[in-house]
Amino acid sequence: MFNKNMQKISLSPIVSISEAVNKRSQETGKPFILFQRGEIGFPTPQYIIDEMIKGLNQGLTKYPISGGHPKLKNAIIQKLKIFNGIENIKPENIVVTHGGQEGLQLVFKLFEGKKALGFAPVWSCVLENFIPYANTDFHQIPLEEDFSVNYEMLEKEIKGAAFLYLNTPHNPTGKIFSKEEIEKIAEICKKNNTYILSDEAYEHITFDGKKHFSAMQLDYENVISVYTFSKTYAMTGWRLGYAVSRNAKLINLLKLGDYTQTAGIPTYTQFAGAEALTNSGKENEAIENFMKEYIVRRDTLYEGLKNIPGIKLPSKPEGAFYIFPDFSEFVPSNINDQERKTFIFNKLIDAGVATVYGSCFGKFFENNLRFSYSTTSVAQIEDGLNKIESALKM
Ligand code: PMP
Repeated sequence: MFNKNMQKISLSPIVSISEAVNKRSQETGKPFILFQRGEIGFPTPQYIIDEMIKGLNQGLTKYPISGGHPKLKNAIIQKLKIFNGIENIKPENIVVTHGGQEGLQLVFKLFEGKKALGFAPVWSCVLENFIPYANTDFHQIPLEEDFSVNYEMLEKEIKGAAFLYLNTPHNPTGKIFSKEEIEKIAEICKKNNTYILSDEAYEHITFDGKKHFSAMQLDYENVISVYTFSKTYAMTGWRLGYAVSRNAKLINLLKLGDYTQTAGIPTYTQFAGAEALTNSGKENEAIENFMKEYIVRRDTLYEGLKNIPGIKLPSKPEGAFYIFPDFSEFVPSNINDQERKTFIFNKLIDAGVATVYGSCFGKFFENNLRFSYSTTSVAQIEDGLNKIESALKM
């Protein structure tokens, strides 16, 4: 009776992990060190909140313009030019969406039932939500142990694929795909008439002078880039994002999809988004403050994990706020596959440390755990590291 695809959707295991951790915390009275969430700990900068309140007081409370308000679209065009180095974008190349999530979901829907590819590990929402929702025939291409790209495998798998989902900076590894990597990937996609769905949710969260590179900067029409205000401006609950493509016909279809689902994004939210992008003094100050904190957390967590004998880590993550170490050394060989999936995860839970197990991110990297430091203070990270070290010795 009910739609088959919708019945295949599940909530991310990260949600059930968080709920289980809360329950256990209440039962035992002991707080957990929370490394499992991709939530932002910082409040939304005041200048953005003020703009939304102003908009509400000015009566921006009617039905929104479909596809997005010109004020926000113009701000986006400027941002794409200045921050991303993407030129010649017109309003008809942009659709404003309910967070990055809706932009991604609409593109999966656009290619419903088709073959698609993505590098594994892959963000859990793609696996649990977009793929079943759009009945996508999704093929995972594992990154190498050092998270580099296996081009040979990409060339082999890409035949007949409608699109490639490419997420950079990458959740869960913190990898930034370099310009050279993206050029090479795009060349393979172009040759095979495969679109690129470029998920750039973490575009501003980059370290060590490394800059984010977007596939939209290349001379390839069939790129759809999806952006969000959630991570950059600590606006996860506002649900504001946008998709951009040089292919205006494609954007028009996404606009119709968004209109059908939501009738558009509240105008007061869009005005606040425009202010977030264009008030450059306040914007820089807010982002700098976030980044100052993230870098200390990243260094504390990375160095700490690296100093625990047996944990394997490739080079320091250059972006996003995740670290994805390999714990295979600590997984016994005499347990079954099901136990293996959560063996280290459970050990750390018993020690009061919550993470996300590798199989939430696809078929490969099952001995890895994802650590997020987006809400965890340096003191909590240090406490967590001590707990992890003791737990692994047992
Ligand atoms: N892409 C990735 C890789 C993410 O991790 C997230 C959020 N966790 C998103 C996109 C979407 O974020 P939002 O819907 O809040 O914009």
